[in-house]
Amino acid sequence: MGFFTKYAIYFVCLSCATTALSKDIVDKSNIDFVHYQAEITPNFINKSIDGVVEITFTPQVQNVNYLSFSSEFKRIKSVYFDGKKLSFSVENDLLRVKLPASLKTIKTHSVKMDYSASPTQGMKFYDDHLFTVFHTNKWLISHNDLSDKATFDLSIKHDVTTSAVGNGTLVSRKKVGNTLLVSRWQQNTPIPLYTFDFAVGNFEKQSIDTDSVNISMLYRQEVRSGLSAELIEKAFKDVSDMLLFFESKAGFTLKQGYTYVVVDGSMAQEASGFSLVGEMFVHALQTDKNENWFIAHELAHEWWGNSITSSNFSHFWLNEGLVVFMVDAYKQHLFGEEADKNEMKVAIERVQRAVKENRVAPVAFKMVIRESEINHTMAYSKGALVFYMLREKLGDKLFWQSLKQYSLSYQGQSATTQNLKSSFEEVSQIDLTEFFERWVYGPEIPTLDL
Ligand SMILES: [Zn+2]
Repeated sequence: MGFFTKYAIYFVCLSCATTALSKDIVDKSNIDFVHYQAEITPNFINKSIDGVVEITFTPQVQNVNYLSFSSEFKRIKSVYFDGKKLSFSVENDLLRVKLPASLKTIKTHSVKMDYSASPTQGMKFYDDHLFTVFHTNKWLISHNDLSDKATFDLSIKHDVTTSAVGNGTLVSRKKVGNTLLVSRWQQNTPIPLYTFDFAVGNFEKQSIDTDSVNISMLYRQEVRSGLSAELIEKAFKDVSDMLLFFESKAGFTLKQGYTYVVVDGSMAQEASGFSLVGEMFVHALQTDKNENWFIAHELAHEWWGNSITSSNFSHFWLNEGLVVFMVDAYKQHLFGEEADKNEMKVAIERVQRAVKENRVAPVAFKMVIRESEINHTMAYSKGALVFYMLREKLGDKLFWQSLKQYSLSYQGQSATTQNLKSSFEEVSQIDLTEFFERWVYGPEIPTLDL
């Protein structure tokens, strides 16, 4: 990039202490949850679901003697462990299952639970469509770890007049009686639990054929959404170009197709293999072509977030700051230099507003933080600015080589800030300790003179 950048600095207070120069801390679960098989029947009228879930797991430590899962929003009907019915207790939204004997490591076991749920989080119900969103353990009995990935086999029982979308490949669609269908998907590459999702609704469909995979858009009828087939086609016309752009930067391709489910309101949430995007954003795109961020953002998560996943919330900027930056880089590719600068100006304004309102924190933490402790402005906007500065510091060639090395090294895995730093140092042969201490773990806020 050829324009002058000046780093002006504000000194701000840290809300959380960090230990200088220590390593990132990653906490490991005692149990590896390997595979989920679920059968879900949603009920539009009652805003509820009936579910059966079987979880296959391997203990990572000796003598595991109980399992516990969140039972929030759920009524547990029965629990089976390795095929045998077990008693269980539910207290303070926690399902606790005492195992018949202490488990040894290496051996694989399964726990199967029958339940119903009326989730007011993690799932949204409308009269003509419904979908799950981010907090999987609100609708599915499941463990809750940002980076631990598992495979998923999901069957959804839904009305024959509706369409349904799940993760992975649709393997069967069977009629049950005259009015119901059971659609089943298999996701054979492990994905993060928060991207386990499905959507059901009265959707119309449009498709785009790319050289590699099929891209589809599901959207509500024009009379409900105000979106015609032509409008959808026009809004999503750049998706194949986006796909090529992100594939070239990550160094690996999408293996399965991808679906955008256009839903009521202002949703923008990635699942694996599909995303939920709000009708409001598609309408905004009609009047301003620059408003295509949500299409690029959710697609970019297929690489950064869904495949390469931040190991915990301390490194959430590796999911979000990087994706905001990648969308800006895509806009530069599509619209030219000015578009990239404009996006960075927006990021700076957001960070400066946060400083004024005393909402400040580092971009990443060396200790483990909870989801509620994420500072979204720092993870998204300052995170994107850090990647922008890193690109300026290293130059285009080294920056994109480093990003590709990082992406290929952690494909299908979880990553920490130190992993990213090491990839960039390995390729560039530049010690980035000072840069990361100052801009990522440190309190300074950059102002780029664009
Ligand atoms: Zn995102």
